[in-house]
Formats: sequence, structure tokens, C-alpha cells
Amino acid sequence: MEQMKPKGRILSGMRPTGKMHLGNYVGALENWVKLQGIYENFHLIADYHALTTNLDTSEILTNTIEMVSDWLAVGINPEISPIFRQSQIKQHAELHLLFSMLITTARLERNPTLKEQVRDLNMENITYGHLGYPVLQAADILLYKGNVVPVGEDQAPHVEITREIARKFNATYAEVFPIPETKLTTFARLPGLDGNKMSKSLGNTILISDDEITVRTKLRKAITDPQKIRRGDPGRPEICLVFTYQQKFNQAEVPEIESGCRSGALGCVECKQKCATTISQTIEPYRVRRQPYAEHPEKVLEILKEGEARARSVAEQTMQEVRQAMRLGEV
Ligand code: SF4
Repeated sequence: MEQMKPKGRILSGMRPTGKMHLGNYVGALENWVKLQGIYENFHLIADYHALTTNLDTSEILTNTIEMVSDWLAVGINPEISPIFRQSQIKQHAELHLLFSMLITTARLERNPTLKEQVRDLNMENITYGHLGYPVLQAADILLYKGNVVPVGEDQAPHVEITREIARKFNATYAEVFPIPETKLTTFARLPGLDGNKMSKSLGNTILISDDEITVRTKLRKAITDPQKIRRGDPGRPEICLVFTYQQKFNQAEVPEIESGCRSGALGCVECKQKCATTISQTIEPYRVRRQPYAEHPEKVLEILKEGEARARSVAEQTMQEVRQAMRLGEV
């Protein structure tokens, strides 16, 4: 059968944050797996980016292995979509440096995402590297000539900087880079067990690698409608976190759960049990698939090394074009 031509190339990545939770799954990984085969995907472990907000590198390797084990478990196929560490492809650093000459600090200071980050993280001073974060991101995307960038609205200003840098480079030297298209995507968000954003630092996650008992124990603490104290009390599913989970993981039973909640016939304990069952059923195959990587982390490192060799060869090809266009190293 003739293979479908990919619609374009996408670079997507994450900082190495360790084991993935359901928020990561719903917000990104599920989409990455869906796009596999439609686009040509490169998956980056953004370990340089991680340094912009945390200088402690002691956990980077462990966190990388844990995270990639989950990527593989949910269905990222490294033979189709290379997985690689940013720090192992030195061309990222080289292109970042060259790009940093093509943008002013005033432009970077106007970046609204940076302003929000400074406010949220309560930062008094930011480093030179943090200010240049979108320039590194431009290098990440353009090194692989990514021509589509799926982003949520909050990340769109970064892609605009990538587009500006690509245009500036092409106009100054030669047409080397595509001008990547911003593909505004609504990333589904799954709240954590306390109703806030699901995040490991808040201790409100369900992990993809959690076993059934752990999922049940965690869900017992999940926030529900505070007015529904016992079975028989009518509930409001629209304000209940467990109902949000049911909508994602137990769609077939949603109408019944909704009417049972509203009438009071369904109690929260039973509802949480149903929810735990379906979440566990969804993630059980992932847990099983990640087991060999947990037992043999060297397999993950092998996959990374293969991905890195493939990424490096694409990156070096681009850098040769860049150096030639800029007449660097000419003899
Ligand atoms: S019955 Fe279910 S949906 Fe209704 S409030 Fe309780 S946990 Fe939430």
C-alpha cells in the first residue's frame, strides 16, 4: 500500500519532568500519538530549556528516562518519530547563538509569555538565557525545518518570534528556513485532584504509571460537589471534578452518571469507584508497556541514542546550509 505523504514536519517537546500524569496525557501525548503518521514528528526533550528556571541538574537523567518510558508506553513509535535530548545535538546551541544576533533584547522583553512567567514564578531578575528562551525555541523548530507548530494561545507569541527570526535570516543571507505556520490548537486540560492545574509540585496528579489501587486511593480525595454529602442528595455534575474525569475516560456512562448524580440515586463513593475503574482500564496497557523500560532503563537510552543520531544528521544538514549562507568557515 502506498504510504501517505506527511502533511508537514512538527517539532514537539517537553522539559524532562519525570513520570507523566494524566494532564500530560490529555494535554499533549494523546495528540502526539494521533498526529503520528499524519505529520513527520520530531520529539525533543528540552533539557536546555529546563535550565532557564532550575539550575539543579541532578535529576535530569532519571527524569528523562521516566518521561520517555511513558512516551513509549502511550504509543510514540521511535522508529517513526525520533526522540532526542536537546543537549546532545550541539547544533541547537550553535543555531541559537547565530539567531541571537537577529533579534533585539527589547523585542524579547516585550514577550507576554515571559512577563507572565516572571510574575507567576515571582522572579525578581531573569537570566540572559531565560530572556533568550524563545530564541532557543526558534532554533529548536527551524533546525528541523518544522513548518507547522501546534500551540495553545499562550505559546503563540513564541512562534511569532520564530517566524520573525526565520524571515530575518532568509532576507539577510539566503532562503534557508520555512516560515512555520502557527496551528492554534485547543489543548484539552485535565484538572488535578484538588481542582487546580494538574502538576507534580502540587501533589494532585494521577500518573500514567499508577496501578489500580493507587488510582482508587487518589480518587477518594478528589473534590466533588460540596453540597452532595451523602447518597440521596442531588448533585451538580457541572461543578464536580470527578464528572470531568468521567467525561474524558468513561464517556459511555456519562448520561447515566449525570442523571444519577442530579437525582441523588448515585452516591459519590460509587461514582468515584466507577471513575477509578475506567481510568485504571485506560492506563493499564500503558503501565504494562512501560514495565520493560522500568526494568531496563538502558533500553530507553538506546532509543535516545538512535533518535539523537537521526536528529543530528538532519540538524547538521541544516547547519551546513546556514554556515554556507552566512559564509562562515569559508576558505
Ligand atoms: S455523584 Fe459523581 S458526578 Fe455527582 S457529585 Fe458525586 S462524584 Fe461528582
